[in-house]
Amino acid sequence: MQLLEERIRRDGVIKEGNVLKVDSFLNHQMDIKLFKEIGKEFKRRFAGEEINKILTIEASGIGIACVVAESFDVPVVFAKKTKTKNIAGDVYTSKVESFTHGRVYDIIVSKEFLTKDDRVLLIDDFLANGKALEGLADLVQLSGATLVGAGIVIEKGFQVGGEIIRSKGIHLESLAIVDGMDEKTGTIQFRKQKWDDLD
Ligand code: 5GP
Repeated sequence: MQLLEERIRRDGVIKEGNVLKVDSFLNHQMDIKLFKEIGKEFKRRFAGEEINKILTIEASGIGIACVVAESFDVPVVFAKKTKTKNIAGDVYTSKVESFTHGRVYDIIVSKEFLTKDDRVLLIDDFLANGKALEGLADLVQLSGATLVGAGIVIEKGFQVGGEIIRSKGIHLESLAIVDGMDEKTGTIQFRKQKWDDLD
């Protein structure tokens, strides 16, 4: 998605440890005009798919998922990160190892909001090693819902997440795929995608 790539080039900041900071427009301050274009692009990429729910993970996925959900005209559910295990049995739980914080936490979603009749699109801001998406996919599987696909705003193509998710047969669409970034020069390389010609 050209608009997004231009914005990453202009305002993205490359940090050590393969972290791309996009705090000025994506996950701290949020550019809702850009989010709307992101929503339209996911709608285009998943055209013809029956989707009745968006599932994301707190915190930085929520804003994006809300705007995407408006494009699809469906509700959003976000998985909560928690330190305390819920023993009441009214939630589905999985584990996620955080790329940015380097620790493992439980994620939960209420059984009330994810059921076997749901057809779910996962949405998140970044894909790195794939742990967040795997955790969300687990929750979908536990609920008996159908996983239609996953939409990612920025995939870091030099990390293993994309390969892992695609090898599981999950329909993954990443609006920008960063194949390389250089902290010293500030340069970012994007992967060419079939969608680029249609922009
Ligand atoms: P994964 O679970 O795929 O390893 O990492 C994805 C999660 O880690 C995303 O939810 C995102 O919040 C965070 N993340 C991974 N890489 C980056 C990055 O380069 N920049 C930022 N801002 N977040 C990242």
